[in-house]
Formats: sequence, structure tokens, C-alpha cells
Amino acid sequence: MATSIAGLHHVTAIASDPQRNLDFYTAVLGLRFVKRTINFDDPGTYHFYFGDHTGKPGTILTFFPWPGARRGRAGAGEVSATAFSIPLGSRPFWTARLTANGISFSEHLRFNASVLAFQDPDGMSIELVEHNEAHPGTAPRYSDVPAEYAVQGFYGVTLLLNRLEQSAELLAVLGTKQIAQEGNRIRFASEGEALGRFLDIVVDPKAAHAAPGAGSVHHIAFRTPDDASQAEWRKILAPHVHVTTVQDRTYFRSIYFREPGGVLYEIATDIPGFLIDESVESLGETLRLPEWYEPRRPAIEAAVVPLVLHKSASAITEVVK
Ligand code: ZN
Repeated sequence: MATSIAGLHHVTAIASDPQRNLDFYTAVLGLRFVKRTINFDDPGTYHFYFGDHTGKPGTILTFFPWPGARRGRAGAGEVSATAFSIPLGSRPFWTARLTANGISFSEHLRFNASVLAFQDPDGMSIELVEHNEAHPGTAPRYSDVPAEYAVQGFYGVTLLLNRLEQSAELLAVLGTKQIAQEGNRIRFASEGEALGRFLDIVVDPKAAHAAPGAGSVHHIAFRTPDDASQAEWRKILAPHVHVTTVQDRTYFRSIYFREPGGVLYEIATDIPGFLIDESVESLGETLRLPEWYEPRRPAIEAAVVPLVLHKSASAITEVVK
């Protein structure tokens, strides 16, 4: 049994226009469209998964795109930024690419790493953190971002909270350690070198509470290898928070609990993964439905908005402007 949770498995957020969301994360950020399925609680709408070439845990950003969804309001009790890793030396590429796509950004130095901060088309805060652990790997299929500059999964997330103590205590239960502080930003990290192992809490006692909507993160999921280790975590957490029963999410199994500051946490299994119903070559190409929805496929396909896949960045410049 691991003594620490192994970094992020996925981050799930809310978007509005599905095509615009798809275009931004594939054609601009160069992520792979790993899975196209439906919101199991609202089967006339999509659930999108973006990630690396094979869709491995620690790279997966998912969205519920609701056409016409109203924007959320940023605030306390919510994830305030989602950060991806980019290889050392790739910052000039990314500043040029963001500029070419009409996306304004700011640059910061945080804990000695360069951070590019910007918003997606729904106002969600995204960061690219340049650091020496982001070793270039295989570029995702259909991406025109050269492999040496490609996004290498998550770096971590930032939570904006009114108070630190109880939230920090729960992070300790999950085995993460407080490793650094800069002003009112406190950094926690899980053990090892997992993708997305950093979790920052920015403390602002006066911040108004967030209102969820398009551009808001709905929840973050931490990784655990399998069902047995997930059951162990459930036992460890039970005295501290209310934990749900295990939910089958087709590509992983999940338990959920709300941390004291208001952010919804999940622990998701690495198994069975995104290759359970598609090959690496064809990930994201077709609408995938769980078995129990297959009989309703014609009605579902008629209800969801049609999508155009594999657009190039130049083809969408006008859209993101
Ligand atoms: Zn989730």
C-alpha cells in the first residue's frame, strides 16, 4: 500500500460550446482527443477527454461541454488554475503559439519555474509550467506541436481557499507533504515523481465563494493503481470525510469526497484505462457509449452536436479570437 496518493489522475471542468472547446485543446494546446463519450447523467450532451498520445493517467483533462452554459464566477472553494508541464526551453515556442492564436497571457516566476498563464475560451485558467522534469515524449497523434515542445501531462493545480488548516490536514491524510511557501501560496506534493503531483493552496480569507459554470473546474481526481488500493484509501478517509461508494466510470472506477474548503476530490483507478474500447490509433475518433446506452445510440447521436475533428491551429484562429 502506498503511503501517498500518486498525483492527479484527471481534472474535470465545465465548458460551453463543444466544438470551440475541442478546437482549443487539440489544435492550440496540441492535446489528443482521447475519448468522446456522453455525460452519463445527461446523455444528450458530451463528455470529452483530452490527454497525451495514449491517454495515460496524469494527462487527462475532461470537460462537460453544455452548449450555451453560462459562465462560472471564480472564487474561493474552487480550483483556480490547472497547470500542465512543458519541457525546459519550450517557452518561446508557446509564447509565439499563443500570440499567433490571439490568446493573451502573462508570465510569472513561481517557486523558480516559469509559468505562462492564460484562459481558455470559456475563461478557465490554464498554466504552462516550464521545468526540467517535463521530458519530451511522443507527440500526440494529429498534433502539429513538435514533440520537443509538447505538453507533458499535468504539473498540478491551484486551489483558492478561505482557510488552510483543515484542508491541509486532509492533504496530510492523503500522504502529501507541505514542501514550500511563497506569500499566501502553500505548495503540497505527493511522494515520488508522478505527473501532476503538486497542489498549491492560495489562502485568501476574504475571497467570495466561487459560483460554478462554464470555465469552472468541477472536481479533481487523484490516482490509485487498482480497486484494492482504492478500497484502502476509502478506509483511510472514512474517519475524516464522507466518501461515496465506488462508481463505475467505464474507463476507471471512482470514489468522491469534498475537502473542507469546498473542492470536490475523487480517487480514480488507473485501470481499466482508455484503451478498453479503442486502439491507440483510433482514440477519440468515434462516439463511445457504455453498454447500457448502446440501445439508445441513434437518439443520442441525433441529440449531440456534430463535431469536426483534427482542425489545424490556423484554421481556428478566427474562432478563438
Ligand atoms: Zn472525475
